[in-house]
Amino acid sequence: MNLARQIEQYLTQPLLELVKDISRQASNQGQRVYLVGGVVRDLFLGYPNFDLDLVVEGDAVKLAQQVAETSQAKLLTHRRFGTAKLRYENFTVDLATARKETYARPGALPAVTPGTLKDDLIRRDFSINTMAISLASNDYGELVDPYQGKGDLEHRLIRILHPKSFSDDATRILRGVRYEQRFGFEFEAQTAQLLKRNISMLDTISGDRIRHELELIFKEKQPEFAIKRLAELGVLPRINPFLKGDGWIAEKFDKARRLKKPAQLPSLYFCLLSYSFSDRGIEQFLAHLNIPAKLSRAMRDTLRLKTKLPLLDKPSLKPSEIYYLLWEYEPVAIQANAIASESPTVYRHLQLFLTKLRYVRTSLDGEELKRLGISAGPEMGKVLQILHKAKLDEEVRTRADEKKLALSLSPKL
Ligand code: ATP
Ligand code: MG
Repeated sequence: MNLARQIEQYLTQPLLELVKDISRQASNQGQRVYLVGGVVRDLFLGYPNFDLDLVVEGDAVKLAQQVAETSQAKLLTHRRFGTAKLRYENFTVDLATARKETYARPGALPAVTPGTLKDDLIRRDFSINTMAISLASNDYGELVDPYQGKGDLEHRLIRILHPKSFSDDATRILRGVRYEQRFGFEFEAQTAQLLKRNISMLDTISGDRIRHELELIFKEKQPEFAIKRLAELGVLPRINPFLKGDGWIAEKFDKARRLKKPAQLPSLYFCLLSYSFSDRGIEQFLAHLNIPAKLSRAMRDTLRLKTKLPLLDKPSLKPSEIYYLLWEYEPVAIQANAIASESPTVYRHLQLFLTKLRYVRTSLDGEELKRLGISAGPEMGKVLQILHKAKLDEEVRTRADEKKLALSLSPKL
């Protein structure tokens, strides 16, 4: 099957020119190069995907260097892995030397040696990701599909390539669910059986790799589908007994996306995912998944603030009172609580803080207060704090109001 015409239609003009340039250069060097993986899958599905992955039978670094020389791409190379990245203004292209992998034991990182395209394809996760398109000049556009990926795409199936796939690398369990839910596909019968039988293999995977897969899930359009499915399959409780993927999560994730100005969505999803955790549970989860410091702080803040919500559930709170209850929490944690809380009053107060109160500043600064005769040090700190509070509560509005208030305070201090 030749896909030269489909490539022309599918790729944008600059990508197409690049692909043709790579094809020419590879032929000049006597190397064979293929478009592989997600982009081939998405070409058939008609979904956009402009991250090009190329496999080179030969030396990917050498080819990338040649291509970089005649374009304005930025080149990054990893000699040791035989990989290179070309970075253009609006897209990147990954080139990898075809490799062969062997797993010494489940969950270990594989040993790698140079190989053929076919060796490179068999180490992959699912048949729908194993299709390649030749870019060599003598068979440009020819589909290479040794594992019947096209057939599985047509039957909407996720299929592993060999029975040991999930035990070699249990992150594939999470990847499979992500594709299943993204495309609305099903696991092929034997794959489904092996997946269920290998859930315990998740214990062989480092926390970093599990976190990375969760991050990928959180980049999906509707990650709650994958989360719910992972719960059903018993994957979530295997990762952490407190993790849930119920209707509550689905509703809250959806609400998070509807916010006018959501914080970083993946962080917000992490905070919501751990909303029912105990103090002990969260610490165990953060350590196991090696969650980065800033996100850890947001997740801890989320649970700390959750215990304070009753204080924010009083309709009569003044803006300054809301401010002092919330100023030390990460904004993502506040947003997570706004989404999680069932009280409209709490929601209103948290949103008021996020959209307005946290940005309130006094018009007068220290220099100006000095000119009004207020000395630096604790006295000035006190004045600034009173001004800020008055501004939050809209008791002062203009600079003149602030000056008047500052002068009236200073003799008393
Ligand atoms: P998408 O980015 O849309 O999820 P992709 O196919 O580009 O799809 P990547 O995560 O970019 O996915 O990975 C590139 C390729 O590497 C995949 O097509 C897949 O075949 C392979 N791959 C990635 N992770 C694994 C893994 N854990 N085991 C086997 N193959 C993998
Ligand atoms: Mg990709």
